[in-house]
Amino acid sequence: MSQSPRIAVVGAGLGGAAAAKLLLQEGFNVRVYEQSPSFSRLGAGIHVGPNVMKILRRIGIEDALNAQGSHPDYWYSRHWQTGDVMAQIPLGDYAVKNYGASYLTVHRGDFHALLVDTLPDSVMAYNKSLTRVEDRGDVVVMHFADGTTEEADIVIGADGVNSRIREELLGVEPPKYAGYLAHRAVFPTPAVKAGMLPFDACVKWWSEDRHMMTYFVTGKADELYYVTGVPVEKWDLNDRWLESSKEEMRATFDGWHPTVQALIDATVEVTKWSLLERDPLPLWSRGRLVLLGDACHPMKPHMAQGAAMAIEDGAMLARCLKEVGAHNHELAFALYEANRSERATKVQRISHDNTWLRTNEDPSWCFGYDVFNTPLVEPKVKIAA
Ligand SMILES: Cc1cc2nc3c(=O)[nH]c(=O)nc-3n(C[C@H](O)[C@H](O)[C@H](O)COP(=O)(O)OP(=O)(O)OC[C@H]3O[C@@H](n4cnc5c(N)ncnc54)[C@H](O)[C@@H]3O)c2cc1C
Repeated sequence: MSQSPRIAVVGAGLGGAAAAKLLLQEGFNVRVYEQSPSFSRLGAGIHVGPNVMKILRRIGIEDALNAQGSHPDYWYSRHWQTGDVMAQIPLGDYAVKNYGASYLTVHRGDFHALLVDTLPDSVMAYNKSLTRVEDRGDVVVMHFADGTTEEADIVIGADGVNSRIREELLGVEPPKYAGYLAHRAVFPTPAVKAGMLPFDACVKWWSEDRHMMTYFVTGKADELYYVTGVPVEKWDLNDRWLESSKEEMRATFDGWHPTVQALIDATVEVTKWSLLERDPLPLWSRGRLVLLGDACHPMKPHMAQGAAMAIEDGAMLARCLKEVGAHNHELAFALYEANRSERATKVQRISHDNTWLRTNEDPSWCFGYDVFNTPLVEPKVKIAA
């Protein structure tokens, strides 16, 4: 093996891009392979909690994201029909003081662009769709759809819910459709009219079987986003998303509060997405291959922590590789799994149950987590260094 092991990150989503940047900062030799030719501003918002903002601080984009995003003072949960407050969770200054960083909502495309722009062009390989990966024991060979091959000493599978690298580790198995879809729309903030509540900066409207989460995606509060969770029995897994319509939204949220109706009326375009899950994986790595993010633990987005878990994974993986050295990759991977699986599995379970912040509860175990300073636990199985 060369002096500086070559680390390949497959997938430049939020998890892969964060992992690559943090590994570069630790002095590792990194290259990123992404199937897309480029990224576009997908019409979606995202929550970025203090647990993630602490990682973005190290990456160097905390201030820029703080300037872009909306800073809700509270997460509200409201009754679908009456608008009554079911929970009011303090964020804003409270989050900065108690969890160590701010809680933001922001446009997902803006966040992703900011993160990817921290990576030098020299480490990025776009248009590289991994078709097969071979761990030969002393080296990994990656095969791409364009007919090329590349070698690496370690390969990080950050290639999302349909990960090719997960398939190499555990065999071909499609993710499970969770029985829910999510409508997503971003549009200019409408005017508040008589009979409506003013728009909360961050609110989840709940009925017994469905919900709508809405928040601003800019600091100026001029763009709003909603994302729903709606039970639908069947979905063709060949489609990741489909077009939806205002008519479909009206029928799905018939009788809901006037504020929700105003959001539907103001919708410009709306899409609907299948929500996919997997049971916790029996292993996160083997030999020179390791997984992170949705490749490893895809979940329903009902805790708004899926990307957060991917980014935390990337940070913990970089920490463990630094701790024991990339030459000791099997020990580093065991340490990484030992320090991530319990938390990621807990977040997967709560996301599945869709109970998060429905009523007042203390979210400090989630938002207060600091991946760089949490004490490390030893792997259960001893691996020789
Ligand atoms: C409706 C909805 C709302 C959500 N809201 C939130 C939220 O508010 N907060 C939050 O934290 N999370 C949220 N999530 C979850 C979040 O989107 C995912 O958990 C997160 O994107 C996972 O990041 P990742 O980097 O692991 O995977 P991805 O974002 O899927 O990135 C994978 C990357 O790998 C690339 N790739 C795939 N296959 C290959 C290949 N063969 N070769 C090369 N490259 C490849 C892809 O092009 C992509 O760039 C939401 C999800 C959904 C569906």
